[in-house]
Amino acid sequence: MPEFDRHVLETLREPLEVGAITISRAAWQTDFPAACQLVAAMNPCPCGWRGDPAGRCRCTPESAARYLRKLSGPLLDRIDIQIEIPALPPAELAARASANAEPSAAIASRVQAARERQLARQGKTNRELTGRETDSVCQPDAAGEALLREAGERFGWSARAHYRVLKVARTIADLAGAAMPEAAHVAEAVQYRRVLAER
Ligand SMILES: [Zn+2]
Repeated sequence: MPEFDRHVLETLREPLEVGAITISRAAWQTDFPAACQLVAAMNPCPCGWRGDPAGRCRCTPESAARYLRKLSGPLLDRIDIQIEIPALPPAELAARASANAEPSAAIASRVQAARERQLARQGKTNRELTGRETDSVCQPDAAGEALLREAGERFGWSARAHYRVLKVARTIADLAGAAMPEAAHVAEAVQYRRVLAER
């Protein structure tokens, strides 16, 4: 992702926020629908080896920082799930391939059930909830609420981040078939927002 020009990356903010994009030219302006699911990947540094135990990274701290800065705070604020995936040693990789992992079909049916639960409850997906709807539909239990408040203060979240974490927690609860987001669901949602924020 950071290989793109920063200006190009910043234009993603509008579709990620409002699901539409406005094109302005000299004499006219038009809105186009642009609701999308953005899936993006990046390396930890320009050479890709940052954090490697064998010390193969040759990047300076400055060049690694410059690379990460290509993603602005406001853009990251709009990316709900951020996960760091460390490289696996070859032996572990082989062991995982043979492990009895859950088949994709089972995961797909769980996702489908969570989506149907959302449509039955509120007539739209969690992502499409307005701020007010989020307050009523995504309200966690008392322990979840306390956790959310603590995390918001500690990480200095914007109002946008707060609502987005709530929606992710609601979705995790839907995947688990829970009536309302509980502390474990909120904790998982909080975790997904910490990776790049702590760099
Ligand atoms: Zn590097």
